Amino acid sequence: MDEQTMFTLMVDLHRDGERQGPGGDGETRRALELARLDRSAELRVADIGCGTGASTLVLADELPGAHVTAVDLFPEFLDILAVQAREAGAAGRIETRTESMDALSFEAESLDLIWSEGAIYNMGFSAGIRAWKPFLRPGGVLAVSEITWLRPDPPREIRDHWDTEYPEIATAAEKINILERAGYDLLGYHVLPPSAWIDNYYEPTEGRIPAFLERHANQPDAAELAEMERREADLYRRYREWFSYGFYVARAR
Ligand code: SAH
Repeated sequence: MDEQTMFTLMVDLHRDGERQGPGGDGETRRALELARLDRSAELRVADIGCGTGASTLVLADELPGAHVTAVDLFPEFLDILAVQAREAGAAGRIETRTESMDALSFEAESLDLIWSEGAIYNMGFSAGIRAWKPFLRPGGVLAVSEITWLRPDPPREIRDHWDTEYPEIATAAEKINILERAGYDLLGYHVLPPSAWIDNYYEPTEGRIPAFLERHANQPDAAELAEMERREADLYRRYREWFSYGFYVARAR
């Protein structure tokens, strides 16, 4: 399948979802507590790879003085976020920006908080945390969820899967070490629970697949994407003891 077809189909399958990756409002709030910010301050916040903005809306709600710039590669997702921001009465404080996370246009040291849930893998954790650091003011906070081994020595099938899909998967100790070497000090870490994957992401996605396949009847690429989603959900259900998203909250030196 060529990349453009894949992107178009992915956007079509995921735009009606509340979120485009595993996560949860409670998990966003938990990470925000670890960040220990002055919540009434006029914080400058970026939400990178925001999708339709589940986390963006929580941030705007919890940080009433903040201006949040929500960035994603796909304007179709951002259009939905813009409507939701208006409905939440937060349109004036949420700005959307179609941009790639590896070519962000923020000014140096212009952000107090960089947020990113289930997205940094698109450019890779090590590259992402390094590329984004100059945009944070010294003492600014990075909060990012990243695929993490929960136990060492995972079984062969799941290790092979991640070696192909995202070889940067590692244990939390290794991820924290990478953060420290890149100039961040850890404020806290927590692990997304299975409900963030199954109830909040896979079940809703699976629920949309029949209508998605009807919209793209006789399109082998759509069937292939649906099959990929199902395989991924099945792997998670079988190996959920072994990996999850770790949520890392760290302060830039
Ligand atoms: N943070 C959202 C979406 C996670 S899915 C949530 O938790 O629901 C990953 C997101 O990254 C998608 O919205 C996808 O469009 C976006 N994305 C993929 N590649 C990107 C890139 N190069 N730059 C910016 N966003 C990208």
